Amino acid sequence: MAGIEIKSNEGRSVSLPSEALDALRGALRGTLSLPGEAGYDEARTIWNAMIDKKPAAVVRAAGAGDVMQAVRLAAQHKLLLAVRGGGHNIAGNAVCDGGLLLDLSLMRSVRVDPKARTARVEPGARLSDLDREAQAFGLATPTGINSTTGVAGLTLGGGFGWLSRKHGLTVDNLLSADVVTAAGELVRADAENNPDLFWAIRGGGGNFGVVTSFEFRLHPVGPQVIAGLIVHPFSEAKSVLEQYRKLVAKAPDELCCWAVMRKAPPLPFLPASVHGTEILVLAICCTGDTAAAEKAVAPFKAVGKPIADVVGPSPYAGWQTAFDPLLAPGARNYWKSHDFTELSDGLIELLLGAIGTLPTGECEIFIGHLGGAVNRVAADATAYPHRDVNFVMNVHTRWSSPSDDKRCVAWARELFEATAKFATGGVYVNFMPDDESQRVRTGAYGANYARLAKIKAKYDPANLFRMNQNVAPA
Ligand SMILES: Cc1cc2nc3c(=O)[nH]c(=O)nc-3n(C[C@H](O)[C@H](O)[C@H](O)COP(=O)(O)OP(=O)(O)OC[C@H]3O[C@@H](n4cnc5c(N)ncnc54)[C@H](O)[C@@H]3O)c2cc1C
Repeated sequence: MAGIEIKSNEGRSVSLPSEALDALRGALRGTLSLPGEAGYDEARTIWNAMIDKKPAAVVRAAGAGDVMQAVRLAAQHKLLLAVRGGGHNIAGNAVCDGGLLLDLSLMRSVRVDPKARTARVEPGARLSDLDREAQAFGLATPTGINSTTGVAGLTLGGGFGWLSRKHGLTVDNLLSADVVTAAGELVRADAENNPDLFWAIRGGGGNFGVVTSFEFRLHPVGPQVIAGLIVHPFSEAKSVLEQYRKLVAKAPDELCCWAVMRKAPPLPFLPASVHGTEILVLAICCTGDTAAAEKAVAPFKAVGKPIADVVGPSPYAGWQTAFDPLLAPGARNYWKSHDFTELSDGLIELLLGAIGTLPTGECEIFIGHLGGAVNRVAADATAYPHRDVNFVMNVHTRWSSPSDDKRCVAWARELFEATAKFATGGVYVNFMPDDESQRVRTGAYGANYARLAKIKAKYDPANLFRMNQNVAPA
């Protein structure tokens, strides 16, 4: 194999000699692909079609050994290195232009220990891999709401979904991780071993090393839960949101209800006359005893006169895929996000005004519902600091033609600016687009930033892992 030109982590072009490439290829259990070779395009293509980066080389890892080989090569030659898990992150840092891409997406094994109620998960696993393996035993751990999302990136940023009010963030259920550090060494991070690293990877993103295995605590969940959508006409949205905020304030931890504002997709249970018109959707999931769950969702079903109410018994793993068709890969996407402790009248007014001006039929505003167990953890117990937040807004702009880029991005930014005065100032690191590096220090990490920067200096002093919402070494 001939040598290649590849980008250094300072942006220079460096020559990687043929011997280095041959040695790497020979050492790997997985593959090394150059542009045009099998697997190259598959590895560099991620969920957000706005991202079209072309690495100089791709390692598609088959195990921790491959990860160590790739990291050692990158560290030795000071290469620009990107690490890809499920490839879902909006910012597109899972891929780099001109550097080395370490693709973990083929490492998808999940092993459940039903007795100990734990799961060992490889870093390319998607949420559906974990959900389905764990649900075979009636178990689950809190993850996100779109089953094709990668477990790795979601966990490293914090991770929340339908189970979080009852069982905490994904990181609150992380028991240990195997991590390949910038020195190319595999270490264990848990409460006893490298506790500083364990603290940092629970919210600090991919800054500290490459996780090759996650160990999670599992909880009995379902397999049947009470879940589904209640769809209201937009004309009723103000009244519904006012009742929603009262109901969620009293809801048990088992119940989680997100509010989604968008144009109605052509869902089979919606009359054709509603398709394409603005709607407010309450998406509910309630776990635990079925009778108690039905009682808990009843007040939500009693609100207003919905166009459709399809809340009822559902397999948990199936409900986890409910939003997949609306969030399929391949569209252009731009997000803006704020955290809120409450949904004030002023905020509701701005949101409702914005829904009247959605730039495309695929755009939506999500209000994710937190609180409960998430907020009963101290803000400095893990790197994820936002333990007082009850609602996370995601302005999800989504479209297909590059000619709409400017218009759609401008719409999201405008709504973000207008709603800032009601927000905490914090932001979930996993909802940040690539142009928000100025929000990392105070917005994403706040009081936890200085500790993260110290741990970064210990485990990655040269900032090898910089393709992320970056914490600079102290
Ligand atoms: C449609 C959609 C729905 C979502 N819903 C939710 C939700 O309900 N709840 C929620 O919490 N989040 C949600 N997210 C956000 C999600 O948590 C992030 O996008 C997350 O980064 C995805 O992880 P990934 O492995 O797929 O990402 P990738 O893009 O592969 O990785 C993201 C970053 O993580 C780092 N990384 C990845 N793997 C590793 C590893 N093994 N070791 C070290 N660093 C690594 C890298 O820095 C990489 O750039 C959603 C995202 C999308 C696109």
